[in-house]
Formats: sequence, structure tokens, C-alpha cells
Amino acid sequence: DTLRPSRLPGAPIRVSFEFFPPKSADAEASLWRSIERLAPLDPDFVSVTYGAGGSTRERTHNTVARLVRDTRLKPAAHLTCVGATRGEIDDVVRGYWDAGVRHIVALRGDPAGGPGTAYEAHAGGYDSSADLVRGIKALGDFDVTVSAYPEKHPESATYDADLDGLQAKVDAGATRAITQFFFDNSLYERYVDRVRARNIHIPIIPGIAVIQNFKQTANFARKTGASVPDWLADRFAGLENDPATHQLVAAGVAAEQVLDLVDAGVRDFHFYTMNRAELVYAICRLLGIKPDAERAAA
Ligand code: FAD
Repeated sequence: DTLRPSRLPGAPIRVSFEFFPPKSADAEASLWRSIERLAPLDPDFVSVTYGAGGSTRERTHNTVARLVRDTRLKPAAHLTCVGATRGEIDDVVRGYWDAGVRHIVALRGDPAGGPGTAYEAHAGGYDSSADLVRGIKALGDFDVTVSAYPEKHPESATYDADLDGLQAKVDAGATRAITQFFFDNSLYERYVDRVRARNIHIPIIPGIAVIQNFKQTANFARKTGASVPDWLADRFAGLENDPATHQLVAAGVAAEQVLDLVDAGVRDFHFYTMNRAELVYAICRLLGIKPDAERAAA
């Protein structure tokens, strides 16, 4: 019973990968190397983020359009309400429909001043993520994914208020939620219990941060209200100048996390790849996911 991989047979495990749009030609080449490496794992979908304030609108669109054009992957385009009118956002959505994209990850987005400052809806824009979900559904039969926060969104006063937000997004037509990353699986399990107690039945897919750089991850976590347990910080302490050990520890941490979730019955995983393939590729193998060619040969 302690050999966790023996528990993998059962319902198939499905994975999805998140990328961000590259800023330079070098970053673009590196992203596409990662996509080529991960594509044979046949992910359920791959998603491309939308920069704060809509700053990557073009680059997100271009990356998604290339995924449609050059790969067999099913892309999901992230979209936020920030800094644009309804008309402008609707044009982006229509552009995705025309490009053959049928899946959007709909978000409110962060306040213009960054996480922690007060959010103000754009005059003439979508007021909230639920409002955006409704707008997208009115424009086409998109599959719409939304966010979920196991430790509640920092702007939510209570867990109940946070779940009101999730409920509103589901009522507007969202069919799946991906969580903010977390490192303590009991936070996810407790959150899913709360969601189900509210009679919300959409899949709540755990978002898994594979730690490419602990310091960066911890800083990002602080901004987004995700807790970083002391035991985790302790594992990475002193590894700033030891990338090989850092990488091995990161692989161990992620392996432990996903296999523990598998034991708890989780079958879908969304990986925040940071546009890098190696660790995610290895974790997928631990989840029993092998490239197409190897599967065909077997
Ligand atoms: P929302 O669901 O809109 O919630 C925000 C706040 O409003 C919460 O406090 C919520 O409780 C409250 N709320 C909303 N509606 C109601 C309601 N009806 N009743 C009560 N309370 C309500 N940001 C980007 O800029 N680009 C991205 O590509 C991006 N991708 C992301 C992907 C994932 C999986 C996640 C988890 C986050 C992502 N973010 C992204 C970050 C996100 O934009 C920020 O966390 C933002 O501050 C909140 O947007 P949201 O849609 O996640 O939250």
C-alpha cells in the first residue's frame, strides 16, 4: 500500500499545461522547445496567460494562434476584464473564435496598482469575472474555465464570500475551475469539501507550481495570498547557488504533492510550467503519462 505508483491504474490521469507569452525571440524559441517536449504527453489542453492590464493581448493571441496552426494541442486563451471596454474584449473573443479557439480561461485580473490594491472596473468594461464569463458565453459556445482559491482570494473577506464569487461564475456558465497553487494538500481538500457543500459540482483542478526558482515562487505566493509552509522554505534554504540540488528538491516536492493528491482521488492536474518542460515532463512520467510514441509502441 505504500507503493503509490501501484495506485495509478484506475481512471485515467489528465494533465494540462500553462504557459506565458514570450517577450523576446530567445524566450519564444525556448517556449516552443518546451511545447514540443510536452506536446507528445497529449495534454487535455494547454493554456496561455494574459499579461496584467492586458499588456500581452497581441502576444497571447499570437501564441494561441500558433498553437492552433502548428500543433494538435487544444489551446485555452486566458482573458481578463482589466483596462478594456466590453467592445474591445468582445473583439478579442471573436478573434479567438475565428482562429478556431473554443476554450477561454476567464478572469477578472489584478487591480492596476497590482495585487493588494483596490480593484476598479474599467468604465464601459466588464465588471467582474462572472460578468466576463456571461459575455463570452453570449458570443459563442466556448468552454469557459475560471480561477479558484483554496486559501480564498486575498480580496475576499471570508471563505463564504469567496465561494459566492465561484458560484456566480458557475451560474454565468463556467464549467471548470483551476486553483491558485498551494503547497499543503489539506488546503485543497478542505476547499473542495467547502465547494461541494455549496452544491457546486464543476471540476476543481489543482494548479501545481513546479518550483523552478524557490525565491521567485515564494515572492509570487506572498502577493497572491498563497501560503508557503516553513517546511518547504526549509527544504530550499541554502540552495540559491546550487541549481542541480534545487532542481532535484523541486522534483521531489512536486512528486510528493501530486502523488499524494492521486491517493486522495484527484485525476486532473494543471501545471504552471513557467515555460520550462523538464520538471513537468518528469512529474508527468511519475503520474504514468508517457509520450504518444511510447504508448503506441506499448
Ligand atoms: P474573481 O473570481 O473575479 O474574484 C476576485 C474577488 O472578487 C474575490 O474576492 C471574489 O470573492 C470577489 N467576487 C467576485 N464576484 C463575486 C460575487 N458575485 N460575490 C461575492 N464576491 C465576488 N491574472 C492575469 O492578469 N492574467 C492571467 O492570465 C491570469 N491567469 C490566472 C489563472 C489562474 C488559474 C488563477 C488562479 C489566477 C490567474 N490570474 C491571472 C490572477 C487573477 O487575475 C487575480 O487573482 C485577480 O486578482 C482575480 O481575478 P479572478 O478572476 O481570479 O478572481
